[in-house]
Amino acid sequence: MSIPSVFRPRRQTVTAMIGTVPVGSSHPIVVQSMTNTDTADVHGTVAQVASLSRAGSQIVRITVNNEESAAAVPEIVTTLQDIGITTPIVGDFHYNGHLLLAKYPDCARALAKYRINPGNVGGKRRDENFRSIVQIAVDNDKPVRIGVNWGSLDQDLLTQMMDANAASSTPSTAHDVYVEAMLASALRSAEAAEDVGLSHDKIVISAKVSLVPDLVDVYRRLASRCDYPMHVGLTEAGLGMKGMVASAAGLSLLLADGIGDTIRVSLTPKPGGDRAEEVQVAQQILQSLGLRSFTPQVTACPGCGRTTSTFFQSMAEDIQGYLRDQMPVWRGRHPGVEEMRVAVMGCVVNGPGESKHANIGISLPGTAEEPRAPVYVDGALRVTLKGDRIVPEFLALLEDYVVRTYPTPIAVIAEV
Ligand code: SF4
Repeated sequence: MSIPSVFRPRRQTVTAMIGTVPVGSSHPIVVQSMTNTDTADVHGTVAQVASLSRAGSQIVRITVNNEESAAAVPEIVTTLQDIGITTPIVGDFHYNGHLLLAKYPDCARALAKYRINPGNVGGKRRDENFRSIVQIAVDNDKPVRIGVNWGSLDQDLLTQMMDANAASSTPSTAHDVYVEAMLASALRSAEAAEDVGLSHDKIVISAKVSLVPDLVDVYRRLASRCDYPMHVGLTEAGLGMKGMVASAAGLSLLLADGIGDTIRVSLTPKPGGDRAEEVQVAQQILQSLGLRSFTPQVTACPGCGRTTSTFFQSMAEDIQGYLRDQMPVWRGRHPGVEEMRVAVMGCVVNGPGESKHANIGISLPGTAEEPRAPVYVDGALRVTLKGDRIVPEFLALLEDYVVRTYPTPIAVIAEV
């Protein structure tokens, strides 16, 4: 999929390999996620990583916060491999990463990347601890993400910069100093990591904040000052719709600027909610922007007083569910199907027009319209459905369209 011409080209970066996944401007934007299980619970963590991976997360981060977690990491990785999941697993370290990685060398070997927050590597011995982690990364040939966070910024650095600003004859705003301190923390840490011996292409950088305007400000500044691949996301995006909308707003502004090589949507799940939702939202943002394709898209009108019932709403939902359920099967057998567009419209006002723009579309009868549902295929009227079997008949046409339009490669037929 090429970049839509209304967007800026991708900001040029080096490529960092995270396990087998390349991250950088020469490669598609990577979707990643993070577990919320206790990492020491091998069974639970494996199950959630598997779920996130099957939803499409290309990299999964797990917290490594104590000895039990560090000890569990090798078993988590090998268990995943045994069930065919090779998604790179990233360890998230705060405060004691230098100790855990040194004490659990199998953990250090099993992880595909270490995430270090420069603000959380220990008080007085911060620099020493940071160098210890980086040295272990060098010894194990692992990349590192230097992940600065608004909520845990290096306080000594911030104080120094605030003091210097206060003494300046042309002081900046406190907000400006805060942003610059985040950037300084990230870039100085990257420089320090390279001084230890980590190669330039083994560093990914991030500077997450929780408000959209700040996110855009921070990343635009950071983008112009380095060529490291950047991990982008709104930290603590929040619950439900707020988290999704805020993440979509922030990520869209940056992605349209060509900024962002890997993304995460940090949603707070409902109790018992599906963690994989954050993966679906991240994919939907990329697909809505035309930057990547993951699943066929349904164009459905919102409905209005012209619709006779909720029939078309439930049909749109049924079709979206059918597409989602079929995708695991179609993905291997029908390459390209993820770019298909399906229209489900509520009446003839916009129905036929929108249907013509889709690969396949149906326009349901509105109030006082004849009980007929014209179906368009590749812009031409194919058939008009009637009666109470409109949904299954349309799904049969859809399945037929997929088989004909996205043929199964010969190599796949041979395997089946
Ligand atoms: S297509 Fe028809 S039913 Fe749908 S919003 Fe437009 S006028 Fe209303």
